[in-house]
Amino acid sequence: EALYHVPAWGAGYFHVNDSGHVAVRPLGPNGPSIDLLEVVARLRSQNVHPPFLLRFQDLLRTRVTQLNRAFRRAIAETGYANTYRGVYPIKVNQLREVVEEILEAGLPFSFGLECGSKSELLATLPYLDRDDMLLICNGCKDRAMMQLILAGQRLGKKVIPVIERMAEFQLLLEVLEDRTLPPVSLPAAFGIRLRLSATGSGLWSESGGETSKFGLSLAELLGLLDHIADNHSALSLQLLHFHMGSQIAHLKQVQEAVAEATRIYARLRKRGLGITYLDIGGGLGVTYEAGNPEAPGSIDYTLDDYARAVVATVQQVCNAEDVPPPVLISESGRALTAYHSVFITEVLDTRSRHYERPSWADGQHHALLEALHQLYELAASEAPLALHERLETLRHQVNQAFREGALTLEQKATAEQLYWATCARLCERLPQAPEALQDLPDPLRQLPTQLADHYLCNFSVFRSLIDHWAIGQHFPIMPIHRLDEPPSRRGILIDLTCDSDGQVRDFVTPVGEKHTLELHPLRPGEPYYLGFFLMGAYQDIMGDQHNLFGRVTEAHIYLDEDEPGNFYVELILPGATVEEELAQVQYYPNDLERRMNHLIQEKVRTGFIRPREGVDLLELYRRILRTSTYLEH
Ligand code: PLP
Repeated sequence: EALYHVPAWGAGYFHVNDSGHVAVRPLGPNGPSIDLLEVVARLRSQNVHPPFLLRFQDLLRTRVTQLNRAFRRAIAETGYANTYRGVYPIKVNQLREVVEEILEAGLPFSFGLECGSKSELLATLPYLDRDDMLLICNGCKDRAMMQLILAGQRLGKKVIPVIERMAEFQLLLEVLEDRTLPPVSLPAAFGIRLRLSATGSGLWSESGGETSKFGLSLAELLGLLDHIADNHSALSLQLLHFHMGSQIAHLKQVQEAVAEATRIYARLRKRGLGITYLDIGGGLGVTYEAGNPEAPGSIDYTLDDYARAVVATVQQVCNAEDVPPPVLISESGRALTAYHSVFITEVLDTRSRHYERPSWADGQHHALLEALHQLYELAASEAPLALHERLETLRHQVNQAFREGALTLEQKATAEQLYWATCARLCERLPQAPEALQDLPDPLRQLPTQLADHYLCNFSVFRSLIDHWAIGQHFPIMPIHRLDEPPSRRGILIDLTCDSDGQVRDFVTPVGEKHTLELHPLRPGEPYYLGFFLMGAYQDIMGDQHNLFGRVTEAHIYLDEDEPGNFYVELILPGATVEEELAQVQYYPNDLERRMNHLIQEKVRTGFIRPREGVDLLELYRRILRTSTYLEH
């Protein structure tokens, strides 16, 4: 557990049980636990094989309840004279079952939704089955979207368009003035996204601050006030919104932004604007790292700290300005969804370098090989950096000699083995702790990664771990079993894509940089499963089709209330098949099969293959078209 830093990122939802397996506690630290290996075994018995994504729907519900309760507690503690009304931004994970689960768990708290595009608007509007639910409409809007939003208001729903740019305000006015459209209910409620001075930090910080993509500057906002005053019977500014970017690292950054936005709210209230809502956007983070709050995927606060800081800051500013406090809205997505899904893959194969020193063989003598043998001897005693430099020089000489025809294949092979054996010897002398490695010069620091085993896993980084590839985000990854056995290898993970970026070579660490993962050697005939954790936010939906690897199979797992510790699989959503994936790029099975048959029949006609073989071959092609895009193992 400690080796993989489970207590730091697991937040009480994950632990290692007595069998040495990772287990999930969907209700939190004191609740019942589900053994992940048992889930894998159950699915395999139903002929569902990794890679797959497990969704622990109870965990999703737990997070919704915890978020709402945290705000309720903070409101009660501070005596805040208004309420909290969270919305779920579906961009974080749009899967219908995820959204429905969140809405169901959020029912006692009148939890609402946020949409950021046309498709998301159309997906969310029909879910407003209670009039008190909020739908916050962020993102760029066109005329039709604005009409639909206002039509939603006409239905008595709290659908609030958030104006992101000045041109969007014009659009709102035009739609309101268009007499050819069905009447809307007036005044039309709308919100404004603020471009604050306060910024976050880290991988997502560009969403906030004065140079961010969205939002109105203060000058633009003031410019709008006259329009609003002139059209007060048609327009009602009800909401101020800001979003600092996902995964805000420090609570202080939250407090600064909230204070700035509340000050704007208060000053506008004093000018007579009846703003009801202050929407603080997303950004509530989760810890993906090993406990050091300075590591890039870490945060320095808890859910309760966040809620308390927001409520107290708004309260303070409103008291100081003597205005009534607003209804608080947050658009937390990552914090609700990250924990609930775990991706499971199977290791298909490993590749280790041979670090043994090759013996002298007849006919292999060569001055370069002798020099390499000498360096191997010195690797135990000489200064590592100087020795590494000499080793690299020799390696270049060997490569050049081979290109010029001066070395045999055997000599070149021996030289390569000697090179790696010497590197391994050098590596043994380096400090093992990541923090000590970080201070070494580059060539030495890279040695452990260069010497690591390659674990070929049945997955695509681009499909299932896109933020690792795109922005270098770390995700907790570890074996889900054999944890009662110390891992004896160090590896990096290689995926199935034909792309050298399709690797995971950065892992969770307390110091922010660790390039290998402790793993077990494979045992013949026994599967070895790895779990990728905190996968529920953004990864599913943003993954792409590189090399045409498709959506993985999903299983939705629930706690069995009648039998604590047991679980049931409620739903299996099959992953994409090869034919479905091909259809996305305009290859259709009928056409492909016809072409394939044409190739085969030509060979049958000329007698190159027998007709029976032709039939079998076509059948093989057809069968594979209907299988998963991942490898069958
Ligand atoms: N609201 C807006 C406007 C966003 O752009 C985002 C995503 O970055 C979110 C909410 C969700 O943020 P998070 O997942 O950090 O809670």
